[in-house]
Amino acid sequence: MLKIYKEPIIQKIKEPFFSHNGVEVFIKREDLIHPFVSGNKWRKLKYNLEEATRLQHKTVLTFGGAFSNHIYATSAAANEVGFKSIGIIRGEELADKPLNKTLAFAKNQGMQLEFVSRENYRSKAEDNYIDQLRDIYGDFYLIPEGGTNNLAIKGCEEIVDEEVKQFDYLCLSVGTGGTISGVITAVDKDQIVIGFSALKGDFLIKEVADLLSNYTAAEHSNWHIETDYHFGGYAKTKPELNEFIEEFNSNHNFPIEPIYTGKMMFGLYDKIKKGDFRSGSKILAIHTGGLQRRE
Ligand SMILES: *Cc1c(COP(=O)(O)O)cnc(C)c1O
Repeated sequence: MLKIYKEPIIQKIKEPFFSHNGVEVFIKREDLIHPFVSGNKWRKLKYNLEEATRLQHKTVLTFGGAFSNHIYATSAAANEVGFKSIGIIRGEELADKPLNKTLAFAKNQGMQLEFVSRENYRSKAEDNYIDQLRDIYGDFYLIPEGGTNNLAIKGCEEIVDEEVKQFDYLCLSVGTGGTISGVITAVDKDQIVIGFSALKGDFLIKEVADLLSNYTAAEHSNWHIETDYHFGGYAKTKPELNEFIEEFNSNHNFPIEPIYTGKMMFGLYDKIKKGDFRSGSKILAIHTGGLQRRE
């Protein structure tokens, strides 16, 4: 069973413009939960690893890019719980290059890294391809790219406890949509969940709707996704975002990063300044982690 190292706390964020706009802003520090299996990745892996144990698997296999937080977290979680892990990494050209920090960490945690072409990688959700991987690597418990499946959504529901239910709005970053789906199904009906897409485009709106309908028959309408804060797309950035994060990190006693939580926080600040939140409301941002520890 995956260990919690530190219970996530909720702390207040102070900025002069919050009170001018009639809101209070807090952050739930999911990033504290584990030194290597940070934030939402811990939540997403918990029940998957329990299921892998129940099914008596010895190995977990998953997919990711060379900088993937999911690969990083899965390697550490599998190691902690006693599974062998295999990471199918996008980009066969990487096989001949020195490993970056993410991949070096994963390898150090015992993950077997297998580099595949971008074309093969695109088949990651196809049964045929998974069967081929079983022929090559033997039996494994499959964790999809980004770790998102119904057990991941179930784990992410646990981000929402009684304390979280005291807030009017919940804000979080969205990558594959697994985390926000769990938060949406767990909140009270009068709470509003706002996702900030870390990727370009609006496909995540349908993606999240599909994840929700696949998970539960209950209808949920108290959520939406902001699509204007991607800064060029996944893992892309702009000077404006970098400056915001730099200033944020020097003004507060915890850091945010530019791929997920930084974009969400930029978007949240922007929306508060535009007066998009009811006066008197309490907003809770969720720090989903993503700060891979420097070795
Ligand atoms: C992976 C990740 C996300 C995206 O979570 P999804 O469940 O894929 O939407 C958000 N924030 C951080 C820090 C992440 O590492």
